[in-house]
Amino acid sequence: MAALIGLDDTDSRQEGMCSTYLGTQIAEQLAAAGITVTRHVLFRCNPAAPHKTRGNAAIGLHTDGQPDRVFKIAQAAIDDLAVLSDPDTHPGLVVAPHDPASIPDAVAAFAADTVRSLVTVDRALDLATQQGYQHTGWKTGRGVIGAMAAIGAWAANTDWTYERITYREPDRWGTTRTVDRSSVFAAANEWYPTIWDTVDRTADTVVCVPHTPGPVLYGIRGDDPTAVEQASAAIDSEPVDSATTFVTNQGTDAHLQSVPLQHATDGMGVCADGTVTTTPETREGGHVFFELSNGTATRQCVAFEPTKRFRDRVRALRVGDELTVCGEVDSGTIKLEKFAVRSLTRQTQTVPTCPSCGRSMESAGAEQGYRCRSCGTTAAGKTTVSLDRSLANGWYEVPPVARRHIAKPLVRGGFDAPTHPER
Ligand code: ZN
Repeated sequence: MAALIGLDDTDSRQEGMCSTYLGTQIAEQLAAAGITVTRHVLFRCNPAAPHKTRGNAAIGLHTDGQPDRVFKIAQAAIDDLAVLSDPDTHPGLVVAPHDPASIPDAVAAFAADTVRSLVTVDRALDLATQQGYQHTGWKTGRGVIGAMAAIGAWAANTDWTYERITYREPDRWGTTRTVDRSSVFAAANEWYPTIWDTVDRTADTVVCVPHTPGPVLYGIRGDDPTAVEQASAAIDSEPVDSATTFVTNQGTDAHLQSVPLQHATDGMGVCADGTVTTTPETREGGHVFFELSNGTATRQCVAFEPTKRFRDRVRALRVGDELTVCGEVDSGTIKLEKFAVRSLTRQTQTVPTCPSCGRSMESAGAEQGYRCRSCGTTAAGKTTVSLDRSLANGWYEVPPVARRHIAKPLVRGGFDAPTHPER
């Protein structure tokens, strides 16, 4: 016997409910009914989707239960725990009566599409009905999209990471979390780089403890399930009420697709090549903008203020630098998550300096070259000077404090050029 559960959009920002916690609760109730959850999947859908739940996390549970029973238990738990009064909470639940090795191609393809593009509730409902899956929704029921994605996830994704999520005792929810900072840094250092994004060493900040009012105490992310569990257990904190290890597409860049710049359109996560055509400019709010062109199309790129020291890397770019940029496209602008320097401009043309008196020369008129106002010395044209570059070839990324759940940290490796990881 086997049944896969998918659920989504049970989060409440206001009340602090979270889909991973609900998944953990359902797993406990299934266990009480003698049903084993063999795998907990945390599947991040397209971060660019409108109406996204917090972090856009859908939950899949792989079980050895009888599908009807599993459905009833999950349905009752959502009825009980989802904060339906929250105007942004629209849960969906799907139960598939097969094991993870039997996920149909159409369901896997659907899951892949939810990460890289935008899909509709109708498409999710049609597919669920077509496959004979039991499904239900609450309110608008748009959570059925993530629920179907969570069912197909295991067959759609190939790169998996892990997160050990610990939960607080319910009577502490909404109060300040007690997590010993030095024990977090110690665990982060001991298991790095197998675990990552636990802390931000440069910013001297703990990253794994959320600030929202919800049930999560902390989450330890990494490439190995044993390492995330050991690191999690090494942290000193208030009592841990429960904990679950999720297998997840977090930290994988699953949302990015390589496209020519002219195909980088709104709602997509892209990697695109181009040449810097404007000097990076810091605008109001501290956001840094420049333009990138591939000869066919031009796109504005931005490093937002919260990306902090990443902006210094962007400010160090010069006209003529060849890059691969990665990020989500919104209103025609690529919101940078990482970029690779493919080649750096090493020289630039500047107005000549007078060889006699050292003053800056001035244009002597159209195609007349340059002339020193002070002593009359002339020069035929601009001077070529070499640029001292702080950047090197290879990949640069936002720091851990600014990382999106789905974005792949450089320390995980597998990139096509040298990397300059932020720790
Ligand atoms: Zn002069």
